[in-house]
Amino acid sequence: ALLITDDCINCDLCPPECPNQAISSDAGIYQIDAARCTECVGHYDQPSCMTVCPVECIEPDPAHRESLDQLAEKYTAMYS
Ligand code: SF4
Ligand code: SF4
Repeated sequence: ALLITDDCINCDLCPPECPNQAISSDAGIYQIDAARCTECVGHYDQPSCMTVCPVECIEPDPAHRESLDQLAEKYTAMYS
């Protein structure tokens, strides 16, 4: 999964780009739900949130490092 760092400027560009509805902005803080983030595996070749973020504040979550196979399994579990 990926995470959003404190450098986020709350531009609101990334939530609509997430195919898994993994990004929320409760209380004005943008966060990625690690349980729903497949790093866009199953949808796109690149993480779409990283592509649109103007300040490059989205990066790999060290607490949720997953292999491509694990991300693909997460995708399958979510949509089966
Ligand atoms: Fe959503 Fe993809 Fe970003 Fe994960 S990498 S939060 S699935 S847009
Ligand atoms: Fe924050 Fe980047 Fe998302 Fe904008 S695109 S809300 S700066 S994480």
